[in-house]
Amino acid sequence: MKILLVFDFDNTIIDDNSDTWIVQCAPGKKLPIELQNSYQKGLWTEFMGRVFKYLGDKGVREDEMKRAVTSVPFTPGMVELFNFIRKNKDKFDCIIISDSNSVFIDWVLEAANFHDVFDKVLTNPAAFDSKGHLTVENYHAHSCNRCPKNLCKNVALAEFVGKQSQQVMSYTQIVYIGDGENDVCPITLLKKNDVAMPRKGYALQKTLTRMSQNLEPMEYSIVVWSSGIEIMSHLQFLIKE
Ligand SMILES: [Mg+2]
Ligand SMILES: [Zn+2]
Repeated sequence: MKILLVFDFDNTIIDDNSDTWIVQCAPGKKLPIELQNSYQKGLWTEFMGRVFKYLGDKGVREDEMKRAVTSVPFTPGMVELFNFIRKNKDKFDCIIISDSNSVFIDWVLEAANFHDVFDKVLTNPAAFDSKGHLTVENYHAHSCNRCPKNLCKNVALAEFVGKQSQQVMSYTQIVYIGDGENDVCPITLLKKNDVAMPRKGYALQKTLTRMSQNLEPMEYSIVVWSSGIEIMSHLQFLIKE
């Protein structure tokens, strides 16, 4: 029996947002106003598709984008945390659920040699087309009205855990580590014994605080973190129990 660790990517594993960081590759390091203003709520993947097309049209090539994305720093303590998880893979399964895309996450994990730490990455599938444009698709279709059209992390997590319990194993507990508004929906899936770990000072922590003040039912425990070292300490505590 193992513990399942679920990581968000942007502002959790890496200390910035890869989708906004990539704008550094644009001429003048910014997007034209019309493009900036073309974002419609809930349609993030479509918006990023237009950003990637614009970068491609401006002659920004794959290696330049890769250099930019792999230069985003890891959040403090994450490298130490992943080394700890790697040493304890008999106790942990570890996945990423992210609204970024498969190409960016692959680049980051490959550059830092962390592919072996993660059992699965659930994110919007991306690829370079014959013109050298990065294209991105929705991870799935879902009917959750809290989440962007391309991904409900709750549905993605429930599907993953369901499949694992049929084919491989059930987890003793789930530890969910994230920072953002799109991490609220999957956290509502957590049960007694599970742990929600919001990043200190970020949107997820504020929302969970508000939910507990409103006395919304929460069976799971909440442990706030500001570095990977603090997450590691809590995991050490969990495996000693
Ligand atoms: Mg995030
Ligand atoms: Zn949702």
